[in-house]
Amino acid sequence: MKSSLRLIRIAGIDIGVHYTWIFIFLLLSWALAQGFFPQLYPDWDTRTYWITGVAAALLLFGSVLLHELAHSLVAKARGMKVHSITLFLFGGVSNLEEEPERPIIEFAVSIVGPLTSLAVAGICWGLLQLVENRQTPLAGILTYLALVNTILAAFNLLPGYPLDGGRVLRSILWQRTGSLVRATNIAATVGKIMGWALIALGLLQAFAGNWGGLWLAFIGWFLSTSAEASRRQTSLREQLSGVFVRDVMVPNPATISPDTTVSTLVSNVFRRQLSRAVPICQNDRIVGIATVSDVKELPREKWDDTPVSEIMTRDPLYQVRPEDDLNAAMQLIAKHDVNQVLVKDDTGCAGLVTRADILNYLQLSQDLGLKQKRG
Ligand SMILES: [Zn+2]
Repeated sequence: MKSSLRLIRIAGIDIGVHYTWIFIFLLLSWALAQGFFPQLYPDWDTRTYWITGVAAALLLFGSVLLHELAHSLVAKARGMKVHSITLFLFGGVSNLEEEPERPIIEFAVSIVGPLTSLAVAGICWGLLQLVENRQTPLAGILTYLALVNTILAAFNLLPGYPLDGGRVLRSILWQRTGSLVRATNIAATVGKIMGWALIALGLLQAFAGNWGGLWLAFIGWFLSTSAEASRRQTSLREQLSGVFVRDVMVPNPATISPDTTVSTLVSNVFRRQLSRAVPICQNDRIVGIATVSDVKELPREKWDDTPVSEIMTRDPLYQVRPEDDLNAAMQLIAKHDVNQVLVKDDTGCAGLVTRADILNYLQLSQDLGLKQKRG
């Protein structure tokens, strides 16, 4: 996730905070120092309220981090790639690079987060029992952490996808029906309904004069949009799996040599073949790719005497093989925000797959009902 600040690296995982978290941190410290602690402990002085408030907010940050680390470490132990954890608005996001392969893995990865939060809550509550004077800042912090970790566990256990509880639900449905797509559809629908319910509840509270309700409504909005996005993503992935790159690619695309001029590229390739990208080959080897975007950056009066080698993209060249799953191509296109990837086989350049080709394929197979829904 971009716009985040990298803090540390634990077990090969980059831990960062989203910039919005700094704002939330200040807001939370203020709410704790001015509201929560003064209500529970009326005898402290202002300085103590603030120190305790900031400390408690930092420890909440630590609690969310432990929750996310638990997800990530279990995912790693089950062979999934985890690159980073980003702590943001009201929680965290573990950036799992791939989807779990089996229901049991998804179940384990999902449930361990809330269990960790519950364990932290239990430990804090246990420590609180050992504190003799319940009016000290230490007792205050332990009380707060026990409470907030319980809430963290309870909220995340709500069965709406993509919350942890929704993932647990999906893994159970997936195990029972054998269909990841059906399981995702149901769990995401629950997620959307829950999101709407939170929005309604939040707005009602706001109308009744409690502005904290807006916060709840915002969380609800976030939940329902991410549920819908996840549902679409899974269905797309399912439609593309089992389809080979070679079935969709433009085979044997025209290639040109790096010393061709840009004006020849435009008139002979882009105009005539209505393509938007062309592989550049030299001695049967791909050395780059030239796209319409590359050409657009060059002033028109220079087209006649600029060789393609000066405007082409040499590196990175995103490539797949003809026998790869179409998902591999789609992932490269989406991840790097490019319009096409090269298809390379043992003889060199075998073709190009563009974003438009994939969309056309999806549209066509949907219109003709070609692809039967696989399990
Ligand atoms: Zn979680």
